[in-house]
Amino acid sequence: MKILITGGAGFIGSHFAVKMLKEQHEIAIIDNLHPYYSVDRKKQHLEVIKEAGDFQFYQTNLLDRDETINIIKEISPEAIVHLAALPGVAYSILRPLEYIDYDVKATVNVLEGAGMAGVKQVIFASSSSVYGMMKNVPFREEMAAGKPISPYAASKYAAESFCHVYGHLYGMNVKILRFFTVYGPWGRPDMAIANFIKKLKNNEEITIFGQGGSRDYTYVGDIVNGMGLALKNLKQSAIINIGSGRPISMDQLLDELRVYYPDMKIRTEKNRAGDVDRTWADISLARELLDYEPEVDFSKGIAETVAWAEQHEDFL
Ligand code: NAD
Repeated sequence: MKILITGGAGFIGSHFAVKMLKEQHEIAIIDNLHPYYSVDRKKQHLEVIKEAGDFQFYQTNLLDRDETINIIKEISPEAIVHLAALPGVAYSILRPLEYIDYDVKATVNVLEGAGMAGVKQVIFASSSSVYGMMKNVPFREEMAAGKPISPYAASKYAAESFCHVYGHLYGMNVKILRFFTVYGPWGRPDMAIANFIKKLKNNEEITIFGQGGSRDYTYVGDIVNGMGLALKNLKQSAIINIGSGRPISMDQLLDELRVYYPDMKIRTEKNRAGDVDRTWADISLARELLDYEPEVDFSKGIAETVAWAEQHEDFL
């Protein structure tokens, strides 16, 4: 299959690109190497992909509508996997309008381009954050009720609506996958696990906000498996949670990390606005429609992540 991956130089995108190349798919990547975090790190992700095989690369900003549409027409992929976005809740509170640009407008450009180029299917990377503060757990797909609590979450929710619009207008299969807190080798440096490991390696204190809450941490290998299954096994538009299906509390996370870094120093600050207190994916729909099953338990995932961090000090 010929697959266009937007945001392919990012954390999840680079893992997915490697997986697709190993499975003999042809891939093209659009990524503007946004400096949200180190551009050198993104260039290194591209090097890692190169080791798995050749690919076309366009360093282009998806906010440029005409160029985006032209590139999609030129590539004429069978599927687009749209991962490009500004991620992160905290930064979205500081720069809300950038999120409307990068997470909503850029998505509309990709969807329009896909429709005009006759692309059969689009996968959109949405987020557990669209559920907002939920009393009931685990989160089932239909429970998202338009009550996000951060500009990032609101942008993802709006982008989901546009996925529905363009699926309808062009008769495309648009598959919305809601990822739950993704971690693993090459994990994003602004996220808790990568941030903690970097600090613990340097003997610095780590910061916990409020009670620390609980998260449905999902290993990146499981996420990209879910994405691959959605490309292959799903023949319709749908909204599907891709998570591990079990929440991990902050205490559990700290216990796992203490195995490697026993002299942990912890500082507590008050809750950050925009952070939900917990996430927990109901993954029955993913099991039913995709035949998805998470394979990497939390201890193993942390072991892999720590092992990667020990070998890649320069990229933490
Ligand atoms: P990432 O920041 O590592 O990757 C995103 C990539 O998109 C970056 O390389 C960036 O340069 C590129 N990009 C951003 N805007 C662009 C634009 N306008 N034009 C071209 N390229 C652009 O983030 P990630 O963690 O790999 O996340 C990938 C996707 O998954 C995002 O849509 C994110 O919102 C979503 N998601 C991630 C998580 C997680 O835990 N990592 C959870 C839920 C959802």
